[in-house]
Amino acid sequence: MTDKRFSALTNVASFEQAGRHLCYLKNKSISAKGIVSGFGVQLLSGERLAIYHELKNRFGNVAALRQKHSDRILIPSGDNSSSQLEIYSGDAMISDKRGLVLTVHTADCLPILFFGEDRMIGAIHAGWRGTLREIAPKAVTLAMRNYAISLDKLKFIFMPSIQKCCYEVSSEVAVLFRNHQRNNKGQLTIDIAQENKIQLTELGIPEQNIQISKECTYCYPGFDYPSFRKDGRIRRRMVNFIVRC
Ligand SMILES: [Zn+2]
Repeated sequence: MTDKRFSALTNVASFEQAGRHLCYLKNKSISAKGIVSGFGVQLLSGERLAIYHELKNRFGNVAALRQKHSDRILIPSGDNSSSQLEIYSGDAMISDKRGLVLTVHTADCLPILFFGEDRMIGAIHAGWRGTLREIAPKAVTLAMRNYAISLDKLKFIFMPSIQKCCYEVSSEVAVLFRNHQRNNKGQLTIDIAQENKIQLTELGIPEQNIQISKECTYCYPGFDYPSFRKDGRIRRRMVNFIVRC
């Protein structure tokens, strides 16, 4: 099934309608056996739960977050067989459980999905606060402590987020980032994807293992991404997910 709204998405190989209001996209641009990642999109406020339940129906189990812009990283138990979702307070998750979908929801912040050899997967919510707290390298470090993974085998997908063209911040926030700049409207902006990439490469991740979406959730013309700054009172989110089947 195809839909014109999605035809311009460059990093998505296929699209399926899954339910009345949500869309369900698979990212196949980094290929790995058994890994499915992508995002569901709410078209209206208040439908995020429907996406989680759709993912649960499809894959088995879903872990979701009450996100706090923290550096708290969870390891979900993944043995919930009821119809309830597993919901944790924090901003990243790692797991080696097959069939457990890890999710982070965003509307401009940077979603980072990653996976290693063997069974390890992870999902990170990185806004500017989480980025300053170095949540991405901390999640990788925790994964290394818990699973037999090597840094040079980890693969990262930076999903669409607000980019340096549009991520305007105050001068107090801008100076906290080494890559702040003025865009062509004269606004002070930061590049959180670049900052997270630097943090991960400083940890030892090879640059070529990090795939970064160039699509800005605020201004990309090919798709109406949920954007906190663009949407105003409509509270839509992208539910970014990764699962090993
Ligand atoms: Zn932009």
